[in-house]
Amino acid sequence: MTDRFSFRLDATDGKARTGAISTPRGEIRTPAFMPVGTAATVKAMLPESVAATGADILLGNTYHLMLRPTAERIARLGGLHKFMNWDKPILTDSGGFQVMSLAGLRKLTEEGVTFKSHIDGSRHHLSPERSMEIQALLGSDIVMCFDECPALPADRDRIKSSMDLSMRWAQRSRDAFGDRPGHALFGIQQGGLEQDLREESAQALQAIAFDGYAVGGLAVGEGQEAMFGVLDYAPDQLPADKLRYLMGVGKPDDIVGAVKRGIDMMDCVLPSRSGRTGQAFTRRGVVNIKNARHADDPRPLDEACTCPACSRYSRAYLHHVFRANEMISGMLLTWHNLHYFQKIMAGMRDAIAAGTFAVWEADFHSLRAQGDIDPL
Ligand SMILES: [Zn+2]
Repeated sequence: MTDRFSFRLDATDGKARTGAISTPRGEIRTPAFMPVGTAATVKAMLPESVAATGADILLGNTYHLMLRPTAERIARLGGLHKFMNWDKPILTDSGGFQVMSLAGLRKLTEEGVTFKSHIDGSRHHLSPERSMEIQALLGSDIVMCFDECPALPADRDRIKSSMDLSMRWAQRSRDAFGDRPGHALFGIQQGGLEQDLREESAQALQAIAFDGYAVGGLAVGEGQEAMFGVLDYAPDQLPADKLRYLMGVGKPDDIVGAVKRGIDMMDCVLPSRSGRTGQAFTRRGVVNIKNARHADDPRPLDEACTCPACSRYSRAYLHHVFRANEMISGMLLTWHNLHYFQKIMAGMRDAIAAGTFAVWEADFHSLRAQGDIDPL
């Protein structure tokens, strides 16, 4: 066990990379998918179940935790890991993204953002300094810079002024973070869909120097083609020996396309959120379990999947408990989805290490193209 944070690149295949992050709380295999534990829980899952799916790291939300139960309370109770019974690494976002989405309820200045809580309307403030303080109180292993992320589409002047502000906030975040051995601080590249602004942002961040770099400002409504357009060059603008994190992505084919383009880490609420609405991701695409065609189907969701939902229950049962609004529905489908996402990550890591990523990717797409199993 190390007392430092470090990233080791083991192999590349095309632009795809595999390696490992060492932290005092354990190793994170990359490329890594991080389930989202918004309110100190991955909804419908016990932490040990999340670990059993193969997750090495979770994401926690600064915005939600600062409002309830508050970072100070979590710190008094021993930090976020102890509070939520998860002893592996945790990455926390800066709160910036959620606060920026509170259109009409926030006031943005050079210093920071004042906003009203979505819970009780109370007034709060976030700045680079306060975000670093909160993430330290939570005990986060990977801390994100406080940034501003404009919704797309936005005009170039808006993207540019927002990016410039985020770079000034990146310096303030770095200064406020200080020297915390074993903990990492990531910068966040902005610049929308503008290649030259992305380059300018990458240079500004590298001048400050971070432990890893996020490609920010994507997955905000621009669509997969535009996102891949940026990912065709953005990872190359960032240092090869540091981590590259794509925030808020995505669907299985987004994840595969991002890894192919050189991304090491991702997070998304999709597997857990979809699990609660009856949507399952499988090797053969998306299955809506509420569909009547599953009502008499004794077969598993995915016969090749080893998760509890697939190895112990039928489509008919999963359909029934979803229709009956039983809690186990969200539990089983969330478990399956998280298991499937981690299976994709493990498959890509192995393929990159073996130099067979292109073959793996072709298989991934051809299975999906077949569509779900034929109705009985
Ligand atoms: Zn399964």
